Amino acid sequence: MTTNLLDLDLEGLVRLFEGMGEKRFRAVQVFRWIHQKGAQDFEAMTDLAKSLRSRLPQLCSLRQLPVLSRQDSADGTIKWLFDVGDGNAVETVFIPEEDRGTLCISSQAGCAVGCRFCSTGHQGFSRNLRTGEIVAQLWQAEHFLRRHLGRSDRVVTNVVMMGMGEPLQNYAALLPALRVMLDDHAYGLSRRRLTVSTSGVVPMMDRLAADCPVALAVSLHAPNDALRDDLVPLNRKYPLQELLDACLRYLPSAPRDFITFEYCMLAGVNDQPEHARELLQLLQRHRGTGVPCKVNLIPFNPFPDSGLTCSSRPVVQQFGRILNDGGIVTTIRKTRGDDIDAACGQLAGDVLDRTNAAERLARRREAPAFPVRIVRPERQA
Ligand code: SAH
Ligand code: SF4
Repeated sequence: MTTNLLDLDLEGLVRLFEGMGEKRFRAVQVFRWIHQKGAQDFEAMTDLAKSLRSRLPQLCSLRQLPVLSRQDSADGTIKWLFDVGDGNAVETVFIPEEDRGTLCISSQAGCAVGCRFCSTGHQGFSRNLRTGEIVAQLWQAEHFLRRHLGRSDRVVTNVVMMGMGEPLQNYAALLPALRVMLDDHAYGLSRRRLTVSTSGVVPMMDRLAADCPVALAVSLHAPNDALRDDLVPLNRKYPLQELLDACLRYLPSAPRDFITFEYCMLAGVNDQPEHARELLQLLQRHRGTGVPCKVNLIPFNPFPDSGLTCSSRPVVQQFGRILNDGGIVTTIRKTRGDDIDAACGQLAGDVLDRTNAAERLARRREAPAFPVRIVRPERQA
C-alpha cells in the first residue's frame, strides 16, 4: 500500500522523503505542489527531477475522496457529499460571504456523543476519518472552487471543524490536518481563522492548547448540568464547571481573547428567559471573574424523529437580548444553504436571523423556496 501524502503534515512528508534519501526542500516542493497548486499527480510537478517523479508513484499516492453529490444553493452555499467507503459518507459545506469564504469540514463518519438535537448524533458513530480524509475535503473544495469561480487566489479563507463528528474525539488525525491547514507552504490559514468546535472533551481541549491553539468554539446548549446531561450526554463525564475551567485554561494560548459558546435554540427546552438569565450568571460568575466569551445562538435545524422544534424568532431574539443586555456579546447565526439542507452547524453570521427555520423548512417541504440545482459530481482524476 502506498503512502497517501494527504495523510502527512510537512514534517511527516520531510521524514518520508529523508527516509527515501531525498532532501527536505524536495518535500517542501511536493507539499506546495499538492496543497498550493492542487496537483493531482506527480507528473504535473514539473520542477522535480524526472527520476524522482517516476519513483514517487511506486511509494506514494494522492487519494481524492469520490464525490457522491454536489449541491449548489441559491445563496452560493455549496455542499459536497464525499464517499469515505463502506457505505459511509461525510458532508463538507462552503459558505461564501462578502469578505471571506468559510469551509465547514467533517472529522468523523457519524458521532459517538449522541446529542439529542443533532442528526449526526442520531446516526451513531461509524468511524474516525483519517488525516488525509480531513485534508482532502479542503484540498478538493479549494481547488474545485478556484476552477469553478475562475480565481487564482485563495477561495477558502476560514475553516470551521463544524461538520459531522466530534473533532476532539479524533485528535490523532485532527492534529496533523490542522497543521496542514495552518502551514504557509499549504493553505496558510491564520490560527484565528481556523476554528475547532467541541461538545466539551475536556482533556483534549488542554492538549489542543498545548499542541496547536486555534480558535475554539464550545457547544454549550444549556445553562445547567441537569439539562445539559440530557442534551449533550458527554456532560455526564465532563460537567459544566469542569468544561468552563478548561475554557479558562485554553484562553492564554488561544488566538482570540474569548471563547465562542454555541447554543442551539430548542422550543420549550432551553430557550426560556430564565435559561438566558441562568446562562448569564453561569458565564459571568464562573470562578468569580467569569469566562471571556461570545455567545452564538443557532436556530435549531429540524430533522425527522428528533421530537424537537426550533424556537420562534421572537423567543430567540428575546434570549439574545437578555444576554446582550447583561453584557455578553450575542449573535444569532444566519441560516445559509437551507435549501440544500446545509444549514446545520455553520459559522455563517453576525447578524440577526430574520426567518424562522422551522416554519421555513415546513414550507419548503410543500414547495421549495429556492430552485435547488443538483450538480453531477466533478470528474475524478
Ligand atoms: N461535534 C462538534 C462539532 C460539530 S457540530 C460540536 O458539537 O461542537 C457543529 C455545531 O452544530 C454544534 O454547535 C452543534 O451543536 C450544532 N448543531 C448540531 N445539530 C444541530 C441542529 N440540528 N441544528 C442546529 N445546530 C446544530
Ligand atoms: Fe456529535 Fe457535535 Fe452532533 Fe453532538 S452536536 S452529536 S458532538 S456532531
